[in-house]
Amino acid sequence: MELLVLGNLSRDQLDRFGEVTSVAERWRAVAEAHPGLRVVANAADPHVAHAAAPAATTWVDLGAGWRGDAATCPGCGALLDWSADGFTCPGCGFARPESPYRLHDGALSRDGEVVPLDLALPGRWNRANAALALVAAVEHFGVPLDTALGAIRDVETVAGRYRTVRLPDGRPVRIYLAKNPAGWTEVLEHVARRDSAVVVAVNAHVADGKDPSWLWDVPYELLRGRAVAAAGERALDVAVRFRYAEVDHLLEPHPMRAAERLAGDEVDVVASYTQFLALHRRFG
Ligand SMILES: [Zn+2]
Repeated sequence: MELLVLGNLSRDQLDRFGEVTSVAERWRAVAEAHPGLRVVANAADPHVAHAAAPAATTWVDLGAGWRGDAATCPGCGALLDWSADGFTCPGCGFARPESPYRLHDGALSRDGEVVPLDLALPGRWNRANAALALVAAVEHFGVPLDTALGAIRDVETVAGRYRTVRLPDGRPVRIYLAKNPAGWTEVLEHVARRDSAVVVAVNAHVADGKDPSWLWDVPYELLRGRAVAAAGERALDVAVRFRYAEVDHLLEPHPMRAAERLAGDEVDVVASYTQFLALHRRFG
């Protein structure tokens, strides 16, 4: 059986992939051509809701996330009305689909039954991905709920993401990968709730996006008042962004040396793709 899982759709770096609305239209064309296609999709993302509407979709309401690319209705172009309940379009009536599943406060609910996810992985984005995976496994592949939950809770790293390593002085460093403005925003909102020092390590190779202008789409202001370092081959671009965000920081291109220089009991390193790969190769 084939199943498509659609989480969210947001801008990538300018020199990579397509424009958001055109990608959503291509996804929708697939759904229209295959009305029997099984889909598990995020009801809270207007582009995903638009794209998956023609398919046999199981909706999961993952709650409000990045709205930076969803100002207007994917169907008619009118400005969407946003509220705590999601979005509605005053032009054509398009709205968040009714969803049997809902993710709220780290728990997935259906018909009054509430299942805490209790993941080892950090962050709201991982809970959102886990909720979609859980619904896909239980609803469409007949996996018992406890079996699926157990498997999901056992995941501690994903290809090196979220790995914790040690500095020479013994302090722990957790390594995050962030790839696009929505992803960076999710990671920053997560680390902003912690007491850790933060290293932001950015390169600008093809896999990172060669144009680092996306730095200006990310709310680095969240790091104000923290122990912060600008790192990576594009540490100077990061430092300029920090300066405009009024984030005091030190400048140290090497991310682990930057981590060593920061005060604090633990350090979070948030890395663009090729910075992350270098750390992954080093620590395995
Ligand atoms: Zn509309």
